[in-house]
Amino acid sequence: MKAKPIGPIPDDWETVDGELGVAGRSVSDLVAEAGGTPLFVYSRELIDRRIAALRAALPQRIGLNYAVKANPFAPVIAHMIPLVDGFDIASAGELEMVRDAGIDPARVSFAGPGKRDDGLEAAIAAGVTLNCESEGEAQRTLTIAQRIGRTPRVAIRVNPDFELRGSGMKMGGGAKPFGVDAERASALARLLIDQGAEWRGLHIFTGSQALSADAIIEAQGNVLDLAAHLAREIGVPLPKLNMGGGFGIPYFPGDEPLDLAAVGRALQERVADLPSELADTELCLELGRYLVGEAGVYLCRIVDRKVSHGTTYLVTDGGLHHQLAASGNFGTVVRRNYPVAIASRFDAEPIEIANVVGCLCTPLDRLADQALLPRAEVGDIVAVFCAGAYGATASPAAFLGHGPAREMLI
Ligand SMILES: *Cc1c(COP(=O)(O)O)cnc(C)c1O
Repeated sequence: MKAKPIGPIPDDWETVDGELGVAGRSVSDLVAEAGGTPLFVYSRELIDRRIAALRAALPQRIGLNYAVKANPFAPVIAHMIPLVDGFDIASAGELEMVRDAGIDPARVSFAGPGKRDDGLEAAIAAGVTLNCESEGEAQRTLTIAQRIGRTPRVAIRVNPDFELRGSGMKMGGGAKPFGVDAERASALARLLIDQGAEWRGLHIFTGSQALSADAIIEAQGNVLDLAAHLAREIGVPLPKLNMGGGFGIPYFPGDEPLDLAAVGRALQERVADLPSELADTELCLELGRYLVGEAGVYLCRIVDRKVSHGTTYLVTDGGLHHQLAASGNFGTVVRRNYPVAIASRFDAEPIEIANVVGCLCTPLDRLADQALLPRAEVGDIVAVFCAGAYGATASPAAFLGHGPAREMLI
């Protein structure tokens, strides 16, 4: 059997006593502290380093927002408070989370289709900026604000006519459930302003998970052009522009990290030469996985080692109920291997080809196919990297009743 490549293991993870380690501690130590596997470990240090690299590469003028949906673990949200400028939420539940964390609502914006009246009311009452996704939602916002006697803070999420090339998920360009079509955005902005809403500007999100600096540079240029055009049509200064994000991380064999320096240089040039409509506009990016994705690892323990028709299976106590994306069942067409390792033998030579599977009774529950790994035994710990975003939060934890994974931030 031929080995299939695995994704690139992110730099910065350490070897401690022959094991995978972080912050000077081995995975065995961390698992013992957490009380067992399966366990997500998120590293403060790796998050800090990533944000410092962004701050160093991007123009000072560009604010950084954290898209909470990437990882809403309460200690991660709390850790972000001094590190980022704003928080983007996408549900009333996430509104609760940021409020529980004590985050100033003035730093929070709320996007997402299908906002219910109770969520709108909670957001208006809290003073959160609503990124309006439709004329209907704008109308409901105005009605609710009037009923509770508050001035709503509103921005408009624009569905642009372009998209982020090569992005993992297309969220702009053509018919979309997200945002207001660009040609109708300025009319809606005028209506909201005329009705007395506090005008907060535009939100233009063009896609996710792009590894090409050129694609991101092109999308950012298009976003700035569109924002300037809409600001001119609306006829009042644009207070704020959320330029979207889309910065991707390498998950799969052959993926190369985003050239952040190139993105930063291009943005610097654009920002130095903004049209007058955007001269005083507050600019920000909203990032999820780029901030936290590579700073997390999912750890599970091998509970059985078996051979079927000559193929070795390492059966773990983890699986797609915690790490759906690694199983290949979350937005991928062809299943490819995430970066994986035998964490408890991190420095051992890879000598055998094995399939790493989860404990769910479904053939979909694969964590690595035909991976070349050190020989591993029952009791060894498997690491699946790139687990800091859309892991615990984007997986069907209730499926098959195994229960959720533990999580820790160290
Ligand atoms: C999901 C989402 C993000 C975060 O996406 P990442 O790929 O994790 O950076 C940002 N903004 C909006 C509007 C989103 O829907």
